[in-house]
Amino acid sequence: MYKTCNYRRYLCFVCLSMIAMSCSSYRLSKQKVSYPLMENTITIHKVTSKPRKGKEETASYVFFNMHENENTSVRAVKKFLKENPGVLFYLEHDGNRIISFRMDGEIYRFDPNRIFTDEGIRKTLLRHGHFSKEGHDVVQGFGTFLIKTTAAYAQSGYVALHNNGPNAYSIMSYQAGGQYEADAQAIHQNEEMDIDDFYFTTDSLLFAELSNKNWNVVLQNNEEGLDDGSLSIYTGRKGIRYVNIEAEHGHKKAQLKMIDVLSGIWEESLK
Ligand SMILES: [Zn+2]
Repeated sequence: MYKTCNYRRYLCFVCLSMIAMSCSSYRLSKQKVSYPLMENTITIHKVTSKPRKGKEETASYVFFNMHENENTSVRAVKKFLKENPGVLFYLEHDGNRIISFRMDGEIYRFDPNRIFTDEGIRKTLLRHGHFSKEGHDVVQGFGTFLIKTTAAYAQSGYVALHNNGPNAYSIMSYQAGGQYEADAQAIHQNEEMDIDDFYFTTDSLLFAELSNKNWNVVLQNNEEGLDDGSLSIYTGRKGIRYVNIEAEHGHKKAQLKMIDVLSGIWEESLK
C-alpha cells in the first residue's frame, strides 16, 4: 500500500512537471565556448530562449552576468527567458568572483568586471596581486573577447546582473556621503524598497522612467565617474545603453520582477 502510494505520488510529480514544462512559452537553448587563459580555462555560457511555437524572436539587448558567485541573478534571468525572448551570457571558472592565471611563475588575479579599460585592468591586477605589461595584455585579450562575443546581441545595449550581500554595497553607496557618491549623477530612492535591490544605469531616459515608477535607481556620471574598468564605465563612455540590475543574494523574486519591469519599458523607450 505504502509503495503504491509512493508510486502514485511519483506519477503525479512527473505529470505536474510535464505540465509545468509545457506551460512555458520558450525553451532554453544552451551553448558554451571555452576561452584559454594561460593554463586556466574560462567557460562562457550562452542561453538563448526559443519560442515553442511561431517564428523566432529576439530582444535588442543582451543579459550579462560576469561574477560566477552571484548566481541568484542567473536563476532569475533563466526564469524570465522561459517566458520572453532574449539571450544571456555568464561566466564559469572556479566558482569565485575573481579569475586567476599563472604566467612566468607569477599568479595574476583580476575581477572580470574591471577589465574593459586599460586603467581598470591595471588597477584590478595591482589590487589582487601582480601586474606586468604581459599580464595586462592577457587580461585585455579576454576583455576584448567578451565584448566581441556579446556585442552582436546587444544592438540596443546591455543588461548586467549582479548580487550583493546585506549591509555592504547598496543604493546608499551612491547617496551623499556614500563611498561612490561621485560616480552618481542622479539618484532616486524608494524608502519602502530594500536598499540592496536597485537599478544602476548609463541612460537618462531609463533613469527617468524607473524613477517615475518609484524604483530604486542610480544614474551613472558617465563623464566623471571613476574609471574602474567596469562594463558600466566602458558603455557610459561609449554612449551605449547599460543597466545593472543589482539585488541581494537570494532575492530571486525581486530581481525577476525588476527584469520584468525593465524589459517592459526598454523597447518602448527606444522609439
Ligand atoms: Zn557582481
